Amino acid sequence: MPRRVVVVGCGIVGACAALELARKRFAVTVLERLPAPGRGSTRRSSAVIRCHYGEREAIKLAHEGRATWETWAEHLRLRRTRARFVRSGVLFLLQETAARRSASALGLKPEASGADLHRIVRGLRSLGVGCDLLRGSALREAFPFFAFTGPAEVGLVEPDSGYVAGPREAVLDAVEAAGADGVQFRFGERLLAVDTTDGDPPRILGVRTTKGRIPAEALVNAAGPWSSEVNLLARCPLPLATVPLGQTVVEVALAGAREPRLPAMIDLRQGFYLRPSPSGVRLGSGLPREHRDFRSKPLERTDRDALAAFAREKVAALRARWPAARVRRLRPLPALYDWTVADGYPLIDRTDVEGYFVAIGTSGAWFKGAPAIGRIVADLVENPGIRRARLPRTGHLLDLPVLSRRRAPIG
Ligand SMILES: Cc1cc2nc3c(=O)[nH]c(=O)nc-3n(C[C@H](O)[C@H](O)[C@H](O)COP(=O)(O)OP(=O)(O)OC[C@H]3O[C@@H](n4cnc5c(N)ncnc54)[C@H](O)[C@@H]3O)c2cc1C
Repeated sequence: MPRRVVVVGCGIVGACAALELARKRFAVTVLERLPAPGRGSTRRSSAVIRCHYGEREAIKLAHEGRATWETWAEHLRLRRTRARFVRSGVLFLLQETAARRSASALGLKPEASGADLHRIVRGLRSLGVGCDLLRGSALREAFPFFAFTGPAEVGLVEPDSGYVAGPREAVLDAVEAAGADGVQFRFGERLLAVDTTDGDPPRILGVRTTKGRIPAEALVNAAGPWSSEVNLLARCPLPLATVPLGQTVVEVALAGAREPRLPAMIDLRQGFYLRPSPSGVRLGSGLPREHRDFRSKPLERTDRDALAAFAREKVAALRARWPAARVRRLRPLPALYDWTVADGYPLIDRTDVEGYFVAIGTSGAWFKGAPAIGRIVADLVENPGIRRARLPRTGHLLDLPVLSRRRAPIG
C-alpha cells in the first residue's frame, strides 16, 4: 500500500480528497500551480446541489454530497465554516410530451413523457430524495412570480436541495481541515513530470515540479479542466477523454426587494439555470449546444462581444420566465468545465499506471459530490480493487464501475 500521496490540484475535489486521504493516515502533499486554493474552475462554480440525474448511481453520489454539505462543519470537524448550504429548494422545469429522443443538457432532457416523469420521481424517492411533480395551478401557486407557457410545462421540485453559498470558501474550509490533519499544501508549484518505473504496468515513483522532486507511491489527478494534461504527463491517456469546455456565467444584480421564495432552478425549456446570489441571481447555460461548443480556454475578458451576447441571451430567457425581474447590472464571467466528452459523467478510478488515480471529468456538475468523491478516492488509493463504495451519510452503496474510465458511455 502507498504511504506518500501527491494530489494535483487544490480545487474542491483535490482539497476533499486530500482531507480523506489524511484521515486514512497517508502522508499527503497537494500541489497547486496557482498561489492560493480554489482559484481554478471551483471559483466560478454555481454550486447548485441537486440530486436528479438520469443515472441512478449519480443520484446516490449527489445525495451523499448533499447530506455532507448539510453538515459541512461537522464533516470537517471545524467549529465554524466560511461556506454554508442554503436549502432553497431546486426546481426543474421541463415539457411533458409523448416520449421522444431529445439531446440532454446538464445530464437532463428538456422533454419527458408522463410515464418518464413518474419514473424519475419514483427513482429519486426510492433513494430517499424528496421530489414532487407539480403541474398547472399547483406549479403556479408554488412559484407565482414565474410565467408558465401552458399545461404541458411541468416542474420537478427537490425541496431539500439548494446551493452552497461560497464555493471558493468551501475549498478554504477543506484546506483548513486537511491542514489540521497534516496535509502539506504547496501553492504556486506546478506539476511538470511524473516519474514511473519502466515495468509493465509502470508504477508511480514521484513527481517533478517547478520547485523540485517529490517522491510518492501514489498520485491523484484532481486537476479539473487541466486533467487531460496531467493524464498525458503520467503517460496515461484514458479511454474516456476529458477536455476543457469553455462556459460563461452571468452575475445579475436585481433592483427591488429580494424574492424570498426564489429556488435554484434548472429551466430546461428556456435553456438556462438560475440560483440566488447576494446581489440578485446567477445565470448559467442549460442548452445542449452549450455543452458541445469545445473551447480549450475560457472566453477572455477581451472577448467582450461574446460575453455580452451570452449575457443578453440568458437575461432574455430570465425575463421570459420571470417577467417582474428588474435587472440593474450584468457581469458575465468566463469559466471552464472539465468535460467527459462521451457522456458528461465523472471518472473516479484507478488507472493502468499503478498508483495513479483520477478524480476528474466533473463536467460542470460535481461540486455537489466533491466531499463524497474525495472519500471514494481515498478508498481507492487504500484498496484499488474495490468495486463498491459505502457512502456513510446516506447509507447507499455506490457501484464504482459506473465511474470507471472503461465504462460504456452513459446515455
Ligand atoms: C461555471 C461553472 C458552474 C458550475 N456549476 C455547478 C453547479 O451548479 N453544481 C455543481 O455541483 N457543480 C457545478 N460546477 C462544477 C464544479 O464546480 C466543478 O466540477 C468543480 O469545482 C471542479 O473542481 P476541481 O477541484 O475538480 O477543479 P478545479 O477547481 O479547477 O481545481 C483544479 C486545480 O488544479 C490546478 N492544476 C491544474 N493543473 C495543474 C498542474 N499541472 N500543477 C499544479 N496544479 C494544477 C488548477 O490550478 C486548479 O486550481 C460548475 C463549474 C463551473 C465552471
